[in-house]
Amino acid sequence: MDEERMDELARDPRFISGIYNYCDRWCERCAFTARCLNYAMGQEVEAEISRARDSESEAFRDNLHETFENARDEVEDQAEETDFDLEEEELQESVRAQAEIDEAAEAQPCSRTAMRYIEVVDQWLQANAGLFDEEGNVREPPAGAGTPGTGPAGGTTSLRDCLEVIGRYQRQIYIKLCRAATGMIRGVLEGNEYDRQDANGSAKVALLGIERSLAAWAIVQRRFPDHEDIVFALGTLKRLLRQVEAAFPGARSSRRPGFDPDET
Ligand code: SF4
Repeated sequence: MDEERMDELARDPRFISGIYNYCDRWCERCAFTARCLNYAMGQEVEAEISRARDSESEAFRDNLHETFENARDEVEDQAEETDFDLEEEELQESVRAQAEIDEAAEAQPCSRTAMRYIEVVDQWLQANAGLFDEEGNVREPPAGAGTPGTGPAGGTTSLRDCLEVIGRYQRQIYIKLCRAATGMIRGVLEGNEYDRQDANGSAKVALLGIERSLAAWAIVQRRFPDHEDIVFALGTLKRLLRQVEAAFPGARSSRRPGFDPDET
């Protein structure tokens, strides 16, 4: 994609400004693909890659190279606009300061609980891998086996959906909470309102992921009522929900472009 096309897309009024900043990046299930610049650009780049693969043409490879070059130039232009010289020693200092903020963000109670939740889910999936086929459907017991909790209640499709939801948000919750904590710390250190708002927006995405995961686990639990580790996963998520609400009291009321229409 050349620079001109990028600018053309960026100016297109059908796109909702910044909608992709506080979404869950689940584009396949998003109702706003037609209004998302990020999605449109991704589609065009994918189409270019696909054409390049098909034809293996030199011109297409040059085109892709040009896209990456343009993206890099844009980053450097932005750095110049903010009077930030990438070559200077200040860069080292800035990287060091950012690493400290990242470390502090990862040490926050909600970040630690979110990391614990990732482990809990991984352990449950590993311990129960034999219950599912390659597509995530429950392997039904042989006729007459009558294993309690593995009957058709809930339906295999809905269970597969639940596993998909759990998998989708499992790591994203942690990533969003680290970003939220980073923004909150930076906001306090620098007195920067933008970072605080960004923190609340990211925390809201994490909260939505937690709530959807709780709903999905509740269905999985109905299917496997004798799995005590599901109770542990649910308990970890509920604790996480409380921690996020306490750490980011402005998250619930934060308005995400496109997804949370203005009250007016
Ligand atoms: S807003 Fe929707 S289409 Fe755009 S990146 Fe997010 S999930 Fe994908």
